Amino acid sequence: ENGTTVLAEFQLKGRGRKDRDWIAAKEQGLTFSVLINRNIDKNNLNIINLGASLAVAQALENLHQLKVNLKWPNDVLINNKKIAGILLESTSRGNQIEKLVVGIGINVNQPNFKGKYALPPTSVRLELKRAVSRERLLSEVINIFEENLIQVGAGKDKILQHWKSRCKMIGEKVRVQDETKEEFGVFDDLDDNGFLILKTKTGLKTIHYGEVSLR
Ligand code: ATP
Repeated sequence: ENGTTVLAEFQLKGRGRKDRDWIAAKEQGLTFSVLINRNIDKNNLNIINLGASLAVAQALENLHQLKVNLKWPNDVLINNKKIAGILLESTSRGNQIEKLVVGIGINVNQPNFKGKYALPPTSVRLELKRAVSRERLLSEVINIFEENLIQVGAGKDKILQHWKSRCKMIGEKVRVQDETKEEFGVFDDLDDNGFLILKTKTGLKTIHYGEVSLR
């Protein structure tokens, strides 16, 4: 059914984009997936992506008064450390998305992180110096995500506005890299579909995909 949410208490093969690992210690974090199989316009996929990361940020702010930053397209950071990762996977027929699975991993009660990570990780526990209820956080994220999903069509400006207010990179010089090339410029804004507008020497470019880092 639309909205079905499946929670894993541990994962053997958690992953992000490009099959990068998502490491989740048993029963310490939240790793769950939400199925959406109704009214998904392909043009709105990226807004849903932003809406999911925004929901995690808003839940952490509401429950724990944490100061959260968002990194395009969907990383959730606290003090430049990564607290959550999100992966969207979908099947489509023509221009219509049939099914979309939004996978969300949040570091909640991990006391430490061993190993090598692209960005340093953090957890709610590390930030607050105490463990918190995973159940309360899960319900807060899901409730807010549902509200954000309702806004995806007509109310997407609101999602964009709330997302942008938490993004520190807007206005900064950045490097955007995808599989084949890298581009340099200023992170100018997001367009109506939540794609990154990069101001380059040769003009404005719309970036649909890539890793963004500060220059
Ligand atoms: P990135 O944010 O690095 O561009 P991604 O968006 O492709 O990654 P994610 O779903 O966010 O993919 O997660 C995969 C990345 O997150 C890996 O590169 C890994 O270094 C990092 N990672 C894995 N497990 C954790 C964790 N528990 N906490 C923080 N970061 C993690």
